[in-house]
Amino acid sequence: MPAIRIGEFAVDRIADYEGPFFAPADFFPDFDPAVVSENAELLGPRLIEPGTGKLMFSFHSFVVRTGRHTILIDSCIGNDKDRPSRPQFHRMRGPFIDDLARLGIRPEEVDYVMCTHLHWDHVGWNTRLQNGSWVPTFPNAKYVMAKTEYDHWQDFHASGADSPHALAFEDSILPVVKTGQALLVGDDYALDDGLWFEAYPGHTPGNVVIHARSGGASGVFIGDVLHHPLQCIKPAWSTMACTDPALSRVSRTRLIEEHADSGALILPAHFPAPTVGHIRPHQSAFRFDFAS
Ligand SMILES: [Zn+2]
Repeated sequence: MPAIRIGEFAVDRIADYEGPFFAPADFFPDFDPAVVSENAELLGPRLIEPGTGKLMFSFHSFVVRTGRHTILIDSCIGNDKDRPSRPQFHRMRGPFIDDLARLGIRPEEVDYVMCTHLHWDHVGWNTRLQNGSWVPTFPNAKYVMAKTEYDHWQDFHASGADSPHALAFEDSILPVVKTGQALLVGDDYALDDGLWFEAYPGHTPGNVVIHARSGGASGVFIGDVLHHPLQCIKPAWSTMACTDPALSRVSRTRLIEEHADSGALILPAHFPAPTVGHIRPHQSAFRFDFAS
């Protein structure tokens, strides 16, 4: 049984890491601890680690089986990657491929890898280390990326920036371009199974969400437009990881307002298990109701 259904689509989640991650004041420049204490019941120990106050996070991919294709949405952190500024994930060895096998999927069977954006924690499993070089993990897949997003990180990489995003461009993006597997598309790209991109720029310049519609049901893979359910309470809170915090705020607010009570299942890239749910109006703002 898949963990999640959107109409006829079966959706599963594979995590590289779940647990406490950022201290909220480090992650949200506008953080106000009163918001956590005033909403303690809504947040609870599943979302804020008791004692440390750290944000509970998950880093995961979604696997979507549409009946025609097997699609990975974002490819998480990856194994063996040099990420010295993120010591917890530096040259990580995790069981992602075994977890995929447990779903009955071999890497050769993945048809598409669709990327919401090209940050290091969303592209890692694009490639794996084989005999000292980075090769596509999914040898038969097309890797679908918005060209606006690709162009931005290409320039960033060329600038010589010292950043995990530049390292990821080198070890997780360029190798799939080299094999001809990268599909650089407009930010309104549609796959005729019932999945399509929509631009929500700000977190990154070419950031997209991926809509899914099947059998009258709809879902939205929102990537990092929201990082944590706290942002439903405070839609204005952009993160230190946002390229353009002001534009990110506009996109985030639009997403929350458009999807509050829309019936669409929201599938975020970093919310802890059970991860998916619905945005609802709550007092003067919103809340995230997990589906469980
Ligand atoms: Zn992320």
